Amino acid sequence: KHNSEKLSWFYESGVYSFDDSNAVFVDSVRVLNRFYHRFSVSPSIYYSRFFKTQTTLNPVSPTVTSSLAKRKRKRKEPRALNERELIAVQRHQESRPLLLAAHECLLKSTEVLNALKALKSESSCSARECEGGQRSFVNLGHVTPQLEVTLSLRLSDTDADSHPLPSDLQDFPSVQCCEQKVVRAFNNLVANDTQDDAVAEILCNRYIIPRESCFYMSDLGQIRNLIPAHADSGFNLIMVDPPWENASAHQKSRYQTLPNKYFLSLPIKQLTHTKGALVALWVTNREKLRSFVERELFPAWGVSYAATFYWLKVKENGSLICDLDLFHHRPYECLILGYSPGKVNKTDNLSQFKPVKNDRVIMSIPGDYSRKPPIADLLVEHVPGLKPPRCIDLFAREILAGWVAWGNEPLYFQDSKYFVKK
Ligand code: SAM
Repeated sequence: KHNSEKLSWFYESGVYSFDDSNAVFVDSVRVLNRFYHRFSVSPSIYYSRFFKTQTTLNPVSPTVTSSLAKRKRKRKEPRALNERELIAVQRHQESRPLLLAAHECLLKSTEVLNALKALKSESSCSARECEGGQRSFVNLGHVTPQLEVTLSLRLSDTDADSHPLPSDLQDFPSVQCCEQKVVRAFNNLVANDTQDDAVAEILCNRYIIPRESCFYMSDLGQIRNLIPAHADSGFNLIMVDPPWENASAHQKSRYQTLPNKYFLSLPIKQLTHTKGALVALWVTNREKLRSFVERELFPAWGVSYAATFYWLKVKENGSLICDLDLFHHRPYECLILGYSPGKVNKTDNLSQFKPVKNDRVIMSIPGDYSRKPPIADLLVEHVPGLKPPRCIDLFAREILAGWVAWGNEPLYFQDSKYFVKK
């Protein structure tokens, strides 16, 4: 595609593919905003970690500074790397040229860099954000498992006569007709099967639910309730972002983590569609984890390894979020892709899909801690089965249009405080 065509496609889709390269830039906010009609994801909130001007919020006292400096000095003492760390370094050295080449594409592309600059100024204009406080769904689920959610669904105009608008629905000035459903919030498949955004209300907090999507909010113990009765209603794309254990206390305060053995029993086989599924698994850079996935997890799931994609994190000026070669804090994460076979013979499977190729580099500005960019568009052509594929997000914290989202807090980023009203 010609550059100007590519740019207008970027503005429309949020995805920019660089010529003759495996590299692609994704504006997560633009991608997500394709899912909504009456609300939009606010870039200033999504990208708040990188759009904030760097100010010293808490001036550090001189004593604290000197003890920090001592700790830093201590850390710098060289230590021989152990065997696992050496393998991690080798893995990094292998991916390094690929990541640098992708980054080079971004730095050379004035049109994408200009679009990023514009994104920052767009987001600083005074859009009124909806209000709301974050709830801990994990605690709520334990304390009040019977809690209900009120779903306000906007039906198509043809249903207008049978469903007049309730008078108290002030948030919907333009709504012609609306149906309210009250259902259980936990351990229940809650669906917005309309073509429009729906609003879910739990204890006076509002959540925006994109069109044709479902969520199932539960602990891991209930995940088997999602196994379809018939494999031909299983899933063709299974995204998994497990709460891997991580030494960082920082992460521990964000969400619960689980030991690796819990993930071995995820029912990937049973969730797979008869025509097979592409499984996309987010992993951290810890070598112990990478070898666990290759040697134990994928074999236990019956998934055959296909490719690795990289998510390279950049700031709004296009630079990497940290030095590429920092050992304990890399500016990238990996998405491991594999195929879960369906029940039909390969020769019977008439569906066409392009086998996934190794080493794609996806660049984007990160959102909140551990929030992954919405990259399903880049996977769809590699998904077996009929189109559109049936997709499920395991350990989800947000809901994508057309997807089933499962986890103990799938409504987390659907909170109305992350959206602005159009
Ligand atoms: N993909 C998400 C995103 O982009 O924001 C991030 C997922 S985060 C790595 C892992 C999620 O798993 C967290 O929301 C956490 O609360 C959830 N989780 C942890 N333990 C769980 C359990 N026992 N059952 C269900 N979900 C759990």
